[in-house]
Amino acid sequence: MNAVWAAAGLVVGLLAGAAIRGTVFRLSVPSGDPERVTCLQCSAPTRSRLALRCGQCRSSLGTPLALELTTGLVLALLLGRFGGQPDVVAFGFFGVLGVALAAIDIAVQRLPDRLTLPAYPILIVLLTGAAIAGHDFAALLRALLGGLALAGAFLLLALLRPGQIGGGDIKLAGVTGLALGWLGWPTLIAGAAFGFLLAGIVGVALIAARRITLHSAMCFGPFLLGGALVAMLVGGR
Ligand SMILES: [Zn+2]
Repeated sequence: MNAVWAAAGLVVGLLAGAAIRGTVFRLSVPSGDPERVTCLQCSAPTRSRLALRCGQCRSSLGTPLALELTTGLVLALLLGRFGGQPDVVAFGFFGVLGVALAAIDIAVQRLPDRLTLPAYPILIVLLTGAAIAGHDFAALLRALLGGLALAGAFLLLALLRPGQIGGGDIKLAGVTGLALGWLGWPTLIAGAAFGFLLAGIVGVALIAARRITLHSAMCFGPFLLGGALVAMLVGGR
């Protein structure tokens, strides 16, 4: 862990967290609903995607500082780990995307296509750039295969256990597989395993606390992303 890169990651993450707040607010709506374009308090239209407060009543759009601090922490960890390497931009992008998706999934149990689908070309371009800079086309090929493999595995799970894994989870698994595959097959397998482990631990705890039942649907995106983050930090390369 490089302290200078981690400090830079913290600063970039705080700014990036503020930058994604408007998008998270807009997309935190139930599946099928139109994007949220008005203030929850006074119903005034929210004009700018970068606005942190309602222009009319000044109430905060989303929880103040929650996204900023989370993104700051995630980027401090990722830049501390990948800083100075050709793949640092790709992993920084994945970190910011992951925080936005986890926040929306926790709020409304969905992973919007508006974020997951554009993430594919963006991440592939960033990893291609890293492959060219680092002369590592084997890693790029492994990333593409990793994306296919993890999306395929989640598709299979969704077919076997309908209702548990949704379409958004499958699309997120593909993006996550790209990033983890770049780092190697053991990292990809570890990331997915950590995700299921985290979801299992939290699920059992919530059932024990009677917050959910055995048949409740629980969002899976934050666990897959959390598992991937752990694997990225402890994995090889
Ligand atoms: Zn307002």
